[in-house]
Amino acid sequence: MIKVRFAPSPTGIPHIGNTRTALFNYLYAKHNRGEFIVRIEDTDRKRVVKEAEQAIIDILDWLGLEWDGEIVHQSERLDLYKKYVQELLDKKVAHEREGAVWVRLPENKVYEWIDGVAGKKISFNGKDVDEFVILKSDGFPTYHLANVVDDHLMGITDVIRGEEWISSTPKHLYLYACFGWKPPVFAHLPVILGTDKSKLSKRHGAKSILDYRDEGYVKEALLNYMALLGWNPGGDNEQMSLAQMCKSFTLEKVNTANPIFDIKKLQWLNGVWIRTLKNDVLEKKLLEYYLKNKEMLTVLSNKTTKGLILDLAKTRMRTLADFEKLVSEKQLKRKYTKEERGIAEQLLVQLESDLSDEWTEESLIDSLRKFNKEKNISFKTIYFILTGKEQGLPLGELLRIYHKDFFIKNLKGE
Ligand code: GLU
Repeated sequence: MIKVRFAPSPTGIPHIGNTRTALFNYLYAKHNRGEFIVRIEDTDRKRVVKEAEQAIIDILDWLGLEWDGEIVHQSERLDLYKKYVQELLDKKVAHEREGAVWVRLPENKVYEWIDGVAGKKISFNGKDVDEFVILKSDGFPTYHLANVVDDHLMGITDVIRGEEWISSTPKHLYLYACFGWKPPVFAHLPVILGTDKSKLSKRHGAKSILDYRDEGYVKEALLNYMALLGWNPGGDNEQMSLAQMCKSFTLEKVNTANPIFDIKKLQWLNGVWIRTLKNDVLEKKLLEYYLKNKEMLTVLSNKTTKGLILDLAKTRMRTLADFEKLVSEKQLKRKYTKEERGIAEQLLVQLESDLSDEWTEESLIDSLRKFNKEKNISFKTIYFILTGKEQGLPLGELLRIYHKDFFIKNLKGE
């Protein structure tokens, strides 16, 4: 059975690129009906950041990337690692120096593997690999040792990780050989780059999944977008659900070229996802998103207009945050200038005489056109004085939702 792991070091809040590694492992596990485990690699005590682990868990939880079994912490397994370090000392593979235990690869021996992503043979000569520490003087093992011991003991069949770990792989292969263990398949994912072709970082707008969530991105779009960062199942349809991706994911279809993180594409995909969500699903997401926003909660609880508002708003939203901008009566509101006040008064007089009691979408638009022409007032200004906002749903739609009172109130400056 296939068994993979996501093995983050809790040294910071992971950005979207780091979370992609978890997703690819998850997809691979699900595609092969295997297991996906989470192991916290926290042996580098100086670099551990307190909030990092909780963020990692929150991200996996929110995205719905369920893991199998309990989360393992390497810091709780020190005795185990020491035993294996002793074995390497006994075998004279490792030596002690300055209180730490070191390993050096034999020179002129080749360490190679067929990479699960590139499908290519990658090889290193032992003499080109730096001597490395496996146990530090503080009694904690290093990544290299703990990672290999755990992958073996946990029965990991495939190690899917970022390309930046390629240079560690010969060290790991050597350790497997010294212990007499069969190494897993190694598959290295191409590193994500920013638009300037340097390694993706916060500088490129790469934030954590939790930040994107707070900005109104939906998990469907984030999962979909992360998968497209390096994976292309072929075909024209880029919109895929998690279930669809699990079905079609293979390492062969992972590109060897470095994907470029493009926030515009993520925004676009988020809009696509929002448009395709069923209204009840979208409503649930909005309720969660606007948990503390009284005005939006009221909008979402009005049974008569809710459906219409969702229908109208969803065609124009790119993020859940846009919902408020579109439908709020208060958001972005500013006071009218004296001039705008005057225009509002004139417009109110005209609308009342043109439309009397019967405000239809058509008659409203006709009257506004006349106002625009005769008084030479831009539609931008007209929109503003009717709604009190610079942008939002089209006027005809606002009329359908809020009726004429909404406009009259604004024109009167109430
Ligand atoms: N702890 C390593 C990390 O932070 C894991 C690398 C690996 O998957 O082997 O990414």
